Amino acid sequence: MSRRPRLEPFTDILHARFVARPNRFRVRCALMDGTTVDAFLPNPGRMWELLWPGVILYLVRRPEDRPERKTAYTVVAVEREGHPVFLHTHVTNDVAEYLIESDRIPALHGARIAQREVAVGRSRFDFVVEQDGCAIYLEVKSCTLFGNGVAMFPDAVTDRGRRHLLHLAEMARDGLPTAVLFVIHYPHVDWFMPDYHTDPAFAAALLEVRDTVQVLAAAVEWRSDLTLGPTVKTPAIPWDYIAQECVDRGAYLLDLELAEGTTVAVGELGPIHFERGHYIYVGSAMGGLAARMARHTRKRKKLRWHVDYLRQAATDCTALPIRSSKRIECALAQALTDAGFALGPKRFGSSDCACPGHLFYSPEPPLHRTAIHTVLQQFRMAPPDVSR
Ligand SMILES: [Zn+2]
Repeated sequence: MSRRPRLEPFTDILHARFVARPNRFRVRCALMDGTTVDAFLPNPGRMWELLWPGVILYLVRRPEDRPERKTAYTVVAVEREGHPVFLHTHVTNDVAEYLIESDRIPALHGARIAQREVAVGRSRFDFVVEQDGCAIYLEVKSCTLFGNGVAMFPDAVTDRGRRHLLHLAEMARDGLPTAVLFVIHYPHVDWFMPDYHTDPAFAAALLEVRDTVQVLAAAVEWRSDLTLGPTVKTPAIPWDYIAQECVDRGAYLLDLELAEGTTVAVGELGPIHFERGHYIYVGSAMGGLAARMARHTRKRKKLRWHVDYLRQAATDCTALPIRSSKRIECALAQALTDAGFALGPKRFGSSDCACPGHLFYSPEPPLHRTAIHTVLQQFRMAPPDVSR
């Protein structure tokens, strides 16, 4: 194997604007000449914060040796705040290899790649690296979720990722040094945390293994020609804060969809007419958050809160948790108001506080609006040293 750090440059990069994502591995986009094409998206993440109609995608043409691919283009990156964010997960290991072999990861100073894609029992790990005569089993994760100077992983539940961590810890206890490296594809990041809102089991596993598995994070800068810039930052991992926040308590948003307009008798508030569309309810559970959200998504139950009555009429219900050790529901309701969401019926869900209401209306699915993601980012990705 070559010892020279190498990362194949991307040539003939095309720009396009994102239109839609018909399925997980495919996007529809408009080339700059106006032609609409479908492109292969080599990234299974949700990427809610990145893929918006109109954002710029960086495409490359299908390799000539892959004529079996149905799409003529592959998405390599998406632009956010003027920077390309690298999305091509198949190339992440080449990026990691380049970073390690060119000595850009301080904790892996002097390390060399000894082996790629190593099977150990039931798992397959990305690398064995050699550092000071010692072989380290290394797993690499690609991170594209960030905001407010905070990067988080994963952006969708990854049971495989969790099992990888536990297996690495088991190997470490058996005397094999192990590490996990989170490559963050954005340079302006000061903190790295597991996303305990989206995948608390992964976050709990990372907390559990942190003394046996070396946990590394590196934030890289992609330039507009999709070459790596010289800056590689090492964001801090605030373990105590993560341990404090990664608990089953906090606030949540419920997205309740009404397919038809309807009148609902809402407990002591009496009959209220609801237009068709989406209602966003802000609630909190300072103990048993997961059970509370599961209760809301069920229809069969004793009706207790205002939202329980609306739930009976809703055709769909999605819960979005925001784990927190602090009471944030009223601040969250205020943030939705500030973000332009229309207040629903007065006093709905706010019997115990001074807010005008905890229910908001959106004619379209709120998850299709940037405003909701801005609010989620504000509360989910608050930097640990700033109290809210
Ligand atoms: Zn309130």
